[in-house]
Amino acid sequence: MGTPTTLVIASGNAGKVREFGHLLAGLGLEIRPQPEGLEVEETGATFAENARLKAEAVARATGCWALADDSGLSVSALGGAPGVHSARYADSDAARIERLLRELDAANTKAVARGESPNRSAHFTAALAVANPGGEVVLEVEGLCPGMILEERRGEGGFGYDPVFFVPEAGLTFAEMPKELKGEVGHRGRAFGLLEPRLRVLLS
Ligand code: IMP
Repeated sequence: MGTPTTLVIASGNAGKVREFGHLLAGLGLEIRPQPEGLEVEETGATFAENARLKAEAVARATGCWALADDSGLSVSALGGAPGVHSARYADSDAARIERLLRELDAANTKAVARGESPNRSAHFTAALAVANPGGEVVLEVEGLCPGMILEERRGEGGFGYDPVFFVPEAGLTFAEMPKELKGEVGHRGRAFGLLEPRLRVLLS
């Protein structure tokens, strides 16, 4: 099996493929999007499992090395929800945030009634998996970013749950951060920071 000179990004999302292309620039790889029409069902119970499923399926379908990611938001007071269902929690970013704030308020109202303190802590996870052309996962990493869910949106940038996800170490929500800062403290950037040196070893 050769070195991963062609790496297929196991995603149909052009933005994600571009983002990985930037992150991987300098590794001497040819980056390709996954073939059109290839859909991999995210049936895993964890982010890592879903990343693995996608990397394996795309490597097998293309006969190339494949990189997959799976990410989402886990809220402590909601028992880790929306978790692996983050993308499917509602039909739009606005509706996803509304549902999250509504369910978190309800959970905290019950907690207070039980004499407990309200809890707004949460974290984002990004799991990355690399599979070889035989469809075998050879590299897996996970990046986490701890934070808090605000009661109201703050900031105009980013996507998804960014306006209500506050990162204490930065004193900003993801939506208020410049891209570079989100890349540094965010879950995807952290996962990628763990992946890159190991990918370099794999390539050497
Ligand atoms: P997937 O990784 O493409 O399955 O998407 C996971 C979902 O989690 C996205 O659709 C967003 O709702 C959410 N998500 C993942 N990363 C972020 C982030 O950096 N900011 C805000 N929402 C995110």
